[in-house]
Amino acid sequence: MSQLTVAKFGGTSVADADAMGRCAAILEQNPSTRLAVLSASSGVTNLLVALASGEHQPDSRASLLQQLTEIQQGILDSLERPEMLTRHIEEILHHIKELSDSAAISPTKALHDEIVAQGELMSTRLFVELLRQRGTQAIWFDVRRVMRTDDRFSRATPDLTALAAAAEEELRPLCDHQLVVTQGFIGAANDGRTTTLGRGGSDFSAALLGEALAAAAVEIWTDVPGIYTTDPRLVSEARAIPEISFSEASEMATFGAKVLHPATLQPAVRRQIPVFVGSSKAPEAGGTWIRNSTPSQPLFRALALRRNQVLLTLTSQSMFQAHGFLAEVFGILAKHKISVDLITTSEISVSLTLDAGAELLTEEVQAELSKHCHLKVEHGLALVALIGNRMSEVNGTGSRVFQALSDVNIRMICYGASPHNLCFLVEEDVAGQVVADLHRELLPA
Ligand code: ASP
Ligand code: MG
Repeated sequence: MSQLTVAKFGGTSVADADAMGRCAAILEQNPSTRLAVLSASSGVTNLLVALASGEHQPDSRASLLQQLTEIQQGILDSLERPEMLTRHIEEILHHIKELSDSAAISPTKALHDEIVAQGELMSTRLFVELLRQRGTQAIWFDVRRVMRTDDRFSRATPDLTALAAAAEEELRPLCDHQLVVTQGFIGAANDGRTTTLGRGGSDFSAALLGEALAAAAVEIWTDVPGIYTTDPRLVSEARAIPEISFSEASEMATFGAKVLHPATLQPAVRRQIPVFVGSSKAPEAGGTWIRNSTPSQPLFRALALRRNQVLLTLTSQSMFQAHGFLAEVFGILAKHKISVDLITTSEISVSLTLDAGAELLTEEVQAELSKHCHLKVEHGLALVALIGNRMSEVNGTGSRVFQALSDVNIRMICYGASPHNLCFLVEEDVAGQVVADLHRELLPA
């Protein structure tokens, strides 16, 4: 077996025994899928995060643990032979209780990750047993044996070289012979302590494992049948996109489309591994293929919306015909690890947006910036990103877009840096309408 497929199943796809059964059927239909990467069952990670916070009193911890137990018990009860696993799951739940008691005394980042990781450890155990009872042989694999990371708990960065070597040695031989079920989201530092890759990180895990094993494809099974032209909760005419390029999909993930964790495509791009996004509830509905390049390259493909943006405008008269001002400003932002999304400049000012920057933009940062310039901070803005192809090259693109928005106050525009996007900021309360209007004008069915 040389080229295998990696399939990732998200939290809602493994929410209960029925949902897990649908994932099992997907795997059974495609024998070349040799690695299944799972999230924790829906709701579980949130409960574990609350337990790990150390902020809850014993009563409230008991209630969180009870909710956690009910989710696992519901799946166990649907198994034909729950006794195969009952003991094991009970042990994990007991372990979680002990760890959360410790967290209540002294919460640490390492303890947090150890607790939060238990969700994926349980969902994968249950899923392997469910597969076995359907007659599908599968083995459980502890991903921490291969997913080596640094020790930045709750946001760990994978060590790609170590991962590739370990996956080749420990994982590939297993995948050659059978279906392997493993955990998304979690990893281990060099000293063996459990780490996690950040919320929603299972997509990223699947892509990393796909890269390490040079997979033929990575499938992301979730609760929506693919990537949509825009959020269907916002625009009912939104529809699934059959195929999209890596560049376009990366822009979408970065600019707020919730379907994929933004880092997911990096490993796929490095190895040119096609990524499929589909719904485990309706696999027959198809989904979206994300590839290096696609035969269709429409001018307008999709619209993404990211709310809660902070716009920072820095003005300095001394910037006039001077140099070094921007370097100074970005130096300060870099020192405080604040990442900037959009930028526009004029002779004496620069405007930039920060995603969820409110909490990063502390008094201290503002004071430091104020030493060099006048500072204006605006909230309540939303970033609309129009995604497509050759947008900076085709005549009339800007006019088509802005004609559709003739009644809207556009606070800032970024156009031309990438042929794949045109971004602008509008007031939060008109953002939904703006996306609906643009969708109707630019992405008609
Ligand atoms: N279970 C983790 C979370 O809820 C990882 C994931 O679902 O991708 O964030
Ligand atoms: Mg999830």
